[in-house]
Amino acid sequence: MTVVGIDDTDSREAGMCTTYAAALLAERLRDRGDAVHRVCLVRLNPAVEYKTRGNAALAVHTDAPVDAAFAAARALVDDRAVVGDPRTNPGVVALDAAPDAVPEQVATFAGRAVREVLARERARGLLADLDATGTVEARRGTWGDGRGLVGALAAVGAWRAWHATGLTPTYERLVYRPRERCGTGRDVDVESVFAADRASPTVWDTVDRGEGEAVCVPHTPGPVLYGIRGDDPAACRRVAAAIDAEPAERARTFVTNQGTDAHLHDGTLPTARDGRAYRLDGVVTSTPETRRGGHVFFDLRGHDGDTDDPATLACAAFEPTKRFRDRVRDLRVGDRVTVCGEVGEGTLKLEKFAVRDLARTERVTPDCPACGRSMSSAGRGQGYRCRDCGTTAPGKVEREVPRTLEPGWYEVPPCARRHIAKPLVRGGFDAPTHPER
Ligand code: ATP
Repeated sequence: MTVVGIDDTDSREAGMCTTYAAALLAERLRDRGDAVHRVCLVRLNPAVEYKTRGNAALAVHTDAPVDAAFAAARALVDDRAVVGDPRTNPGVVALDAAPDAVPEQVATFAGRAVREVLARERARGLLADLDATGTVEARRGTWGDGRGLVGALAAVGAWRAWHATGLTPTYERLVYRPRERCGTGRDVDVESVFAADRASPTVWDTVDRGEGEAVCVPHTPGPVLYGIRGDDPAACRRVAAAIDAEPAERARTFVTNQGTDAHLHDGTLPTARDGRAYRLDGVVTSTPETRRGGHVFFDLRGHDGDTDDPATLACAAFEPTKRFRDRVRDLRVGDRVTVCGEVGEGTLKLEKFAVRDLARTERVTPDCPACGRSMSSAGRGQGYRCRDCGTTAPGKVEREVPRTLEPGWYEVPPCARRHIAKPLVRGGFDAPTHPER
């Protein structure tokens, strides 16, 4: 068998799409008479700065001989990739191996490419090692600065990496438009999208009910008309077929790691670094504050009262996360939470959080028992005094705080979801969930 990885064929402006290139490759191989077992849509580290959009790389699993499969992929990139764009740097890797039997170091590379930023040299070095040791027949091709080699090699190793980590793949049915319509407005009946979504509980992120938006329809100039994601490939196909839209050119179902949280490291606050995404436990140490642009920030500390672990990290819910910001604004100092998201410039961009323990009281300046007015400080360490009545109190008092949040997981709405982030409707979380639909 052969596994062909392909990446970085598209540009933000000209609008190719690597999923489309992989779908074409699969068809060309089939037209040659070679079986194609599956096409994987592999989401890599979303924190990578040179991604075009969703940091996707693709792998085609085929019976075609390695040289034929590689030649077909090469011809496709020459033919279709937007190589004139300096930010488009395609890479193709073909290995003569079954997807679950690629060399272990390729699977390890794939696992790391979802969670770290890897240098091109690492991909080149690994392929050179495979050549030198004769472990497996490997072909590679690069265009431009060759950055696409990282994603292409990671795509080749993904299937084995998923199996090694126990990741259950998900599916996406992508429906494409004819080339001549790319760049024009998409004609999709939004009502039919909502109706198809309601009829199928195993698809997710098709619509955003709160925003009234069909999030499965992209706004970019690429060839995707819409994409239906879910746990069951048959349901994805059914929902896709039930949507009323302009005529499609072709469609394909991809096997993916979307909606799995595969990018998250289980970390601790002091070790969190830029360019990675984490699941971190901590205690809220500042009242959430809405800043210019509508972004909401709060600070998180590693351990309550533990001076050995004093690290503080800013957490942010940005404006595009819409109603999620109201949940973040409901947090209070002292809440114990688990936060998930990517760290960049020292700030964690929230994708979801779990309330573990709510602070139900706060320490406040006492009110005068005689007149009810707020007392004033009587001086450092002197407690409080009512200016009018002269009554005194030894210090702050505990007051119950009314809370609207409940224990459990809260998440950004579908319109703000990252491809790789796991929606709460998928289940399997360690606390009650409050899913967004
Ligand atoms: P699209 O969503 O339209 O497919 P994209 O967002 O997938 O585009 P690419 O054009 O594929 O973006 O660009 C991502 C680039 O980053 C590729 O060249 C890929 O090889 C590289 N890359 C991916 N993951 C990593 C990583 N973990 N470390 C370093 N480079 C990476």
